[in-house]
Amino acid sequence: MRLIKLVLIGPPGSGKGTQAVRISERYSVPTISTGDILRAAVKARTPLGLAAQATMEAGGLVSDAMMIDLVRDRLAETDAAKGFILDGFPRTAAQADALEAMSTGQRPLALVLNVPEGELVRRLVSRRVCTGCKRLTTGGTSFGSEAELCSYCHAPLMMRADDNEHTIKNRLATYRQTADPLIQHYRSRGVLVSINGYQDTDEVTAEVFRVLDAVADGV
Ligand code: AMP
Repeated sequence: MRLIKLVLIGPPGSGKGTQAVRISERYSVPTISTGDILRAAVKARTPLGLAAQATMEAGGLVSDAMMIDLVRDRLAETDAAKGFILDGFPRTAAQADALEAMSTGQRPLALVLNVPEGELVRRLVSRRVCTGCKRLTTGGTSFGSEAELCSYCHAPLMMRADDNEHTIKNRLATYRQTADPLIQHYRSRGVLVSINGYQDTDEVTAEVFRVLDAVADGV
C-alpha cells in the first residue's frame, strides 16, 4: 500500500478543485489548495493576504518564497503525514524543486488535466463557488440574483473575484508561460500522468481513480 501524494496541474478552469474534493473523499487525504489558503488570507486581511491580494487580482503569481513557506508549514501539519493532494502548487519549477526537498520518502505523482483554452474561458466566466460547502459549479448566469443557490447545501453561490474576463486572460497567459517547465520537471522523473479534462466530470474522475487505485495498490 503506497501513500496518495498528488500534485494536480492544469490551467484555471481545468477542474482541479472539483477533482481534488472527490479524490480527498475517496482516499481520505487532505486537499491543500494554495488558492483557497490565499483567498482566506485576503479575506482575513493577514500579512500574507495583504501581500498577495494585488498579484491575485492581476492574475499573476505570488512569489515563490511566500508560497514555499506556506506549503512547508501546511505539509508539517499531522494530517498531511498520510498523504496529500496539492491543488495549485507547485506552479513553477522552483516550487517543484522546493516540494521535492521538503517532502521526503515517496515521490508525489503529478496529474495534468488537459482542456482546450476556449472551453476554459467558457467555464471560468460562468463559474460560481458555494459560500457554504465551497463546491464549484459552472453554468451560472445571474450573478447576484437570489436564485443562485448551491444544489448540494442551498447556501448562496458567489463569483470568485478573479473570475472576470480581464483577470482570466492573464491567469491563462501565466499558466501558458509557466506550465512547460513544471510538466517537464515531473516528466523527467517519470511521475507524470496526462488526463483528458475535456469530458464529463464523472468520466474525468473515473480516469483519475483508475490511476490512483493502481498507485494505492502499489502497481
Ligand atoms: P487558484 O485558485 O489556484 O487559481 O489560485 C488563485 C491565485 O492565487 C492565482 O492566480 C495566483 O495569483 C495565486 N496562487 C495560488 N497558488 C499559487 C502558487 N503556487 N504560486 C503562485 N501563486 C499562486
